[in-house]
Amino acid sequence: MALNGESSSGDVLLEIRNLKTYFELDEGTVRAVNGVDIEIKRGQVVGVVGESGCGKSMTAMSIMRLVPPPGQIAEGEIRFHRPQSGGGTDIIDLADLDANSSDIRNIRGNQISMVFQEPMTALSPVRTVGKQITEAVRLHQKVNNLEAREIAIDALQRVKMPNPAQRMDDYPFQLSGGMRQRAVIAMALACRPQLLIADEPTTALDVTTEAQILDVMRGLQEESGMAILYITHNLGVVAEMAEEVVVMYLGKVVEHTDVESIFYNPKHPYTKGLLNSIPRLENIVQGKKEKLNAIEGMIPSPYKRLQGCAFHPRCPEFMEGVCDQREPELIQLEEGHSVRCHLYE
Ligand code: SF4
Repeated sequence: MALNGESSSGDVLLEIRNLKTYFELDEGTVRAVNGVDIEIKRGQVVGVVGESGCGKSMTAMSIMRLVPPPGQIAEGEIRFHRPQSGGGTDIIDLADLDANSSDIRNIRGNQISMVFQEPMTALSPVRTVGKQITEAVRLHQKVNNLEAREIAIDALQRVKMPNPAQRMDDYPFQLSGGMRQRAVIAMALACRPQLLIADEPTTALDVTTEAQILDVMRGLQEESGMAILYITHNLGVVAEMAEEVVVMYLGKVVEHTDVESIFYNPKHPYTKGLLNSIPRLENIVQGKKEKLNAIEGMIPSPYKRLQGCAFHPRCPEFMEGVCDQREPELIQLEEGHSVRCHLYE
C-alpha cells in the first residue's frame, strides 16, 4: 500500500523504523530482529556487521519479505521511497504488504534485488544461466525474448563474466564458484535495481575471487548509482565497500556511524571486540607478532531474554547493578554517530 504520492524529501531510499521480526516456536519466541532502525540513501553503501545470529540476514529477508515461516514481521515499518515512471517518488511500507502480493513481487528482483552467500541456492541447477537471467528480465520488463537476451548478455558483461554470450548457454555446474556468483549478481542487476542487498556474497569464495567480485560490485555501484546494503561478518570487506556501518548484536543496532569512525573511533565494547579480533595490516606488513583477542563467551540462546544490556555477559566494561538491570537506549553521541551503551549516558 502506498503511503502517499508526494515526492520524497531528500535522498532517502529506504527507512527501516523499529523493525521487529519474531519467530514464535514451541521453545519460546526468537526475537531475530528486535527494534532495528536503518536509513539508506540513494547511491549509498551501508555495511551491516555482526556475528552469526545477530539478525543481519533476517533484517535483509524482512526487507525482501522472504522471512521463512513461522517468522513474521511483528512490528515496524520498511518505507521504500519508490521512483515513479513519470518522475518523483511515492513511499510504500514493505512491512505492510502481503508477502505474496503482486506489489512486493513487482519490487523484488526489480527495484530491490538480493545476492545470497551461496550462488547455488539462487540458481536452478537444471536451467542455463541465460534462461534464468532472461526469465528474471521478462518478469519485470515488457521486452521480447531477443531483447531480454541482449539485456542478459549486457548484465553478464557488466559483471565482467568472461565470454558472456557463450556463458548464456552454460548450466551453473559448468561454471566456477566465482563465475556462478557473477551470474547471480548479473541476474540481480539485470533490471537495474535502486537497492542491492548483498548478504555475505563473497564468503564462500577464495580471497582472489573475493577481491574480483568486490571490485565488480564497487564498479557497478559507481556506474549505476544504486545503493547497496552489504551484510557481512568481515570488517575488512566493510572497509572496502561501505560508507556507513551498522553494528548489530542480538537483533539490535548497537553502533551506527561512518566507516572511518568504526575503525578509528569505535565506541561500543562489542565493536571494539570485533576490531580486536582481526589482524592489523601494519603488523602483517612489518612481520610483527600480534595477539588476537576473541570476544569472550558465546551469543546467548535465542530463547533467553537477558535483563539489561544483551551484551553484558561478554562485556569487558560491564558495570554491575547498571548493565545487568537496565537496557541501554541508542543514543546519539554526535551527528552521524549513535551507540547503545550505558557508558555514554
Ligand atoms: Fe558493556 Fe554495559 Fe555498555 Fe552493555 S551497557 S556494552 S554491558 S558497558
